[in-house]
Amino acid sequence: MKTQIHCTLDLAGQGKLHGQLCVPYSYNLGGWANLLVPITVLARGQGPTVLVLAGNHGDEYPGQIAILKLLRELAPEQVRGRLILIPVLNPPAARAGTRLSPLDGRNMNRSFPGRADGSPTEMIADYLTRTLFPLADAVIDIHTGGRSVDFYPCAHMHLVEDREQRARMIAGTLAWTSDFAFLYADVAGSGLLPVEAERQGKTVITTEMGGGESIPRAVHALTQRGLRNVLTHLSVLEGTVVTRESLGLPPTRWVAALDRQDYRFAPESGVYENLLDLGAEVATGQAVGQIHFLERPDREPVPIEAPTAGVLLAARSPALVAQGDCVACIAHDVPPERLQR
Ligand SMILES: [Zn+2]
Repeated sequence: MKTQIHCTLDLAGQGKLHGQLCVPYSYNLGGWANLLVPITVLARGQGPTVLVLAGNHGDEYPGQIAILKLLRELAPEQVRGRLILIPVLNPPAARAGTRLSPLDGRNMNRSFPGRADGSPTEMIADYLTRTLFPLADAVIDIHTGGRSVDFYPCAHMHLVEDREQRARMIAGTLAWTSDFAFLYADVAGSGLLPVEAERQGKTVITTEMGGGESIPRAVHALTQRGLRNVLTHLSVLEGTVVTRESLGLPPTRWVAALDRQDYRFAPESGVYENLLDLGAEVATGQAVGQIHFLERPDREPVPIEAPTAGVLLAARSPALVAQGDCVACIAHDVPPERLQR
């Protein structure tokens, strides 16, 4: 089935073009309503096409702000090839400050490859899969931990099988110049945007730029500086690529959480206390946090322990936890040779 989404701009046009993806849907006071997703194209001559996305989850704002600033600041003369910028992939969720779309209750990042005849979130996923990804050489999807999880700000990626694609993704991930680069596992379902883009052979570059509701200046700065540097690295922006070395920083530390037990889940509902700062070194069996019980002052808090030594890469953001919530992610150093294997 053909997409029902109408794009108001010419994706093959030149210069700076602002438009919208019009996603048809109905609600009780709007039988012929459209959800409008802003899209900007900056194009000049020959060069790669890079698709830059944020707001896949509505409550993750650093990437949305970074793309909004970039699309206003850039002139077409600075571009070689084409940038397709979507600052807010899921506008109803971003307006509501939620992870899931309030229109259909769906998680955009579990909706790929999507459905042309599906709900609004599924239609947007299908449009990306069948219209925008095929145009792109590289796909950048900027996430944070949202309201639920706070990450040590990092670029992250899957260790894809294809070695040539993997090398492109490693180079792009390093161009973010974050302290950590993170190899992650899909412990919470399927249908992820990066997996579909990887399947199509794209250079996929993704991040977890912090989390929670209060975003420190440094996290915004890394998001904005990293995005520009990745685009320069990909040759779609003119300029000089910076490296950790040129910034006077130590090399990026590669870490991985590929085992289910690296992700710690709350065994009971309660109030969560983080016992360590993000980025802290953790010993085997060490408590990274503990759950308190407001209704049972006599009960000792339940510790959340690291199964093996590593570094605390992400932790629960809100204090209230429900049984089964992910409260911590413990990552482990990756020997450089493992990246090639
Ligand atoms: Zn996200």
